[in-house]
Amino acid sequence: MLKKGLQDHLNPEREKKLVFLSARVHPGESPASFICQGVIDFLVSQHPVAQILRDHVIFKIVPMLNPDGVYLGNYRCSLMGFDLNRHWQDPSPWAHPTLHAVKQLIVQMNQDPRVSLEFYIDVHAHSTMLNGFMYGNVFEDEERVQRQAVFPRLLCQNAPDFSFSNTSFNQDVVKAGTGRRFLGGLLDDTSYCYTLEVSFYSYMTAGSTAPVPYTEETYTKLGRNVARTFLDYYKLNNLIKDNRPIHIESSEVMSQTSNVNRKGNGFGRDAADREKEKSMGIRH
Ligand SMILES: [Zn+2]
Repeated sequence: MLKKGLQDHLNPEREKKLVFLSARVHPGESPASFICQGVIDFLVSQHPVAQILRDHVIFKIVPMLNPDGVYLGNYRCSLMGFDLNRHWQDPSPWAHPTLHAVKQLIVQMNQDPRVSLEFYIDVHAHSTMLNGFMYGNVFEDEERVQRQAVFPRLLCQNAPDFSFSNTSFNQDVVKAGTGRRFLGGLLDDTSYCYTLEVSFYSYMTAGSTAPVPYTEETYTKLGRNVARTFLDYYKLNNLIKDNRPIHIESSEVMSQTSNVNRKGNGFGRDAADREKEKSMGIRH
């Protein structure tokens, strides 16, 4: 049912898929920059998964939406004292220039018939919750709700510190001016808008008995895992087929292919796959 719904909504031949990421709209949330760095490092690398993604998907990344706030050392606001993540509905070119420019770019891309803006992910850091997790939107259409849950579920398989149980979907009035909420209303029903949050301090994994403090390295690792999850997502949606170019030979790609063959949907990477990747030096 879910898979059929996904295929109905995605026509791989129609247009190029586009993923838009932004970070540091809240200048004090520095872990967001390490995640963003991990995404960029992975996507520009020679890793075979990154090569495949670059062949099929356009990534647009705004690593710092609030540079003046970051420069000043502000926690939440811009130079003029605005929380930019409450002004998506009507940003002013003089009061919120970076937000205004980014919104214009997104609106333009959304109208471009050559591309299909499919993901908007805004990266933040959270001061009270553990782990990485996401906020998504609420829709009346149950099938759309299920489709929206696919990416975080896949990310959960790839990133041990990402928690699906902390992930939630809401329509709080107070969040109406956020990128996730505003763009969720602007983009069509085949698009997904998320806030990706990561704890300022620690994460718990299935096997851990105490919270493990995050480091710069584990934040960037989460970023790399976010990036490679797009391969799983687009394989699931048949945009990326299993018949990869011959010159790409990777234990990771092979193990994922065998997963698809074995389980039919690309979900679930078992311990043997992880061990194999580890022995081949593939970092998660
Ligand atoms: Zn934030």
